[in-house]
Amino acid sequence: MKTEIFKVGGMNCASCAAKVEKALRDVAGVAEVSVNAATGRALCTFDPRQTSADRLAAAVKAAGYSMEKPQHAPSGAAPWWRSPWWPVAVVAALIGAGWGLRSDPLLVGATALAAYPIIWGALKRLARREISAEVLVATGVIASASIGEFLAAAEVALIMRLGDLLENYTIERCRRSIGSLLEHMPLTARVRRGQQEQEVPVEEVAAGDLCIVRPGENIPVDGVVESGRSAVNQAAITGESAFVDKAAGDEVFSGTLNVSGALIVRATRAAAESTLARIAALVEAAQQRAAPIQRTLDRWAGWMVPLMIALALLTLAFTHDIVRAITVLIVACPCALVLATPTAMVAAIARAAREGVLIKGGQYLEAAARLKAVVFDKTGTLTRGEPSVTDVKRFCPEHNESELIALAAVAEKMSEHPVGRAVVQHADSMRLPVPDPAAFQAHHGEGVSAEVNGQRVLVGKRSLLEKHDVALAQEHRAHLEAHNEHGHTTLMVAHDGRVCGAICVSDEPRARAEDAVAELRRLAIEKIVMLTGDQPRVARSIATRVGIEHVEANVMPEHKAARIESLRQAHGAVAMVGDGVNDAPALATADLGVAMGVSGTDAAHDAADIALIADDLSKVAFAVGLSRHTLRIIRQGLAFSLLFNVAMISTAMHGVVSLIGGAMAHQVSSLVVILNAMRLLRYGKPRRH
Ligand code: ADP
Ligand code: MG
Repeated sequence: MKTEIFKVGGMNCASCAAKVEKALRDVAGVAEVSVNAATGRALCTFDPRQTSADRLAAAVKAAGYSMEKPQHAPSGAAPWWRSPWWPVAVVAALIGAGWGLRSDPLLVGATALAAYPIIWGALKRLARREISAEVLVATGVIASASIGEFLAAAEVALIMRLGDLLENYTIERCRRSIGSLLEHMPLTARVRRGQQEQEVPVEEVAAGDLCIVRPGENIPVDGVVESGRSAVNQAAITGESAFVDKAAGDEVFSGTLNVSGALIVRATRAAAESTLARIAALVEAAQQRAAPIQRTLDRWAGWMVPLMIALALLTLAFTHDIVRAITVLIVACPCALVLATPTAMVAAIARAAREGVLIKGGQYLEAAARLKAVVFDKTGTLTRGEPSVTDVKRFCPEHNESELIALAAVAEKMSEHPVGRAVVQHADSMRLPVPDPAAFQAHHGEGVSAEVNGQRVLVGKRSLLEKHDVALAQEHRAHLEAHNEHGHTTLMVAHDGRVCGAICVSDEPRARAEDAVAELRRLAIEKIVMLTGDQPRVARSIATRVGIEHVEANVMPEHKAARIESLRQAHGAVAMVGDGVNDAPALATADLGVAMGVSGTDAAHDAADIALIADDLSKVAFAVGLSRHTLRIIRQGLAFSLLFNVAMISTAMHGVVSLIGGAMAHQVSSLVVILNAMRLLRYGKPRRH
């Protein structure tokens, strides 16, 4: 399956998006389609063996719209003679001259020039027996020209064109604010090949190439530092401008700023696959996925247009005043209503991305705004996920301490769990050899088993040992309880059916975990829960330190999803915040799955609805706040446009507004809704004085 974003031309209003969507969906091999009338983009997931971008474009063309792949290359400003404002300026001049000279031919010319794209679009719709906003406007323009109201016809056409241009301009500005995520990616990279240093376009850097990054330059690719030492500003990716120290072995990301020293970086991915490029693609795709509110509105607009035509006909029947009927037609178009939701969502998603919060679609904004409970995973989420070994205890005489650690490290070598990595790191720091294990198996939420020198080694919780018929003596149990009390996770090590040691690992809570929990509480989230597979005492100790009261411990990974479900039943919408290790099903079950960290596993990023690029838990509260604000803005837009439409229709029916006044009011209402939504781009930013 392949997902691509296309630019769709000719979608002016209301029901167009639904028609393009249907046209795409009817093509064989298309799995998912989402069309956004506000941004003029279509997102399409299709099977490249069954269909192609060209075939999709053809289907859309047959439905009366155009479709092409948007150009991602940094496009220079268009030359001035290509500016879309030209025709508008010419029309305005013609109207001025026509009015001054009282020359009808000039006015007719102006009308034709301004109205031709509208009329052409309307004719294409009518040919397919469809009615859209363009049909309303075109009818209005033609009707007023035919009764000799040339000035009115020209002015209405001009206002419509002007309004469309302003709308596009505003939305384009919002889109650019996302595109600018990529602006941090340098266009060239300095690559060392053999003895030579060359400056090459960044697209030509391949995995394995060595790039030299001087102080003050952006890092061109994702990679690992080979040598050098520097402070790096990762704000482009994480939204946080605190400097991070980087030295040999550390991971660096494309688009981040190398501040102080020179770094030699070995590329791990091509530029096109970099984290930054993935983020930009993800955000663009997210903006495509329409929210549920929006879908119902599109349908609404579909029957509103016929209703408005009926109202106009009624006006004509009662008043015999054709200009009045036309005015009703024009003010009745529900454009502002249809724009309210998608524009706010597009702006909110763009704003969140700037903060390192990737919201994968508009519907997740709605979910985040409704949250009643937030569940946190412990290891790697509330804690830093970088535990270290704090204590090693031997229980049998055959192994000395090094041998015990080496044994556990071999068994843990393939584990992705943070506690497993801690054991392996400890062995590394003692310079113990850690060969690959045979028959490795991860027992999620309990530990690991593996074969070392033909004998079974178990590392993990008491329950894991007991399941494998390894009995714990009184001495072992006492040790476990004593250490759990201090919030240290204790891993039992069994070799050949006998307990031979215990390794304590401890993990610190994240720096701002406590603040993050407090912020959520301030947002009146009813229930904040820690959900963990660890022992209750360990869990409680960490929970107390971050300010969480409700702890559910000893929960197996497969039961985490069920716990989420019962919380949902008790409280309402639930968010699950996790790092993806052992909690991907819970992330997927929750009303809102939030995954942490760029370094988070891919399964988590797929299962999550919101991905936090930085490991900063306070972004959960930011997302909730932003979402609530977005819904507020959407409601304002809907209420305003609805009231405005109703008020304008009734005044138009009473003949209080002129045709031109109606056209202007109609365009102004769309602009008001759009500009209100654009306020979201500044959400949470300190006010400039
Ligand atoms: P959490 O919910 O805190 O993220 P998990 O469900 O991933 O915890 O794991 C629960 C417990 O299982 C851990 O606290 C640890 O005791 C044990 N465990 C999990 N994976 C391993 C492993 N690879 N090695 C040893 N113990 C493990
Ligand atoms: Mg975890």
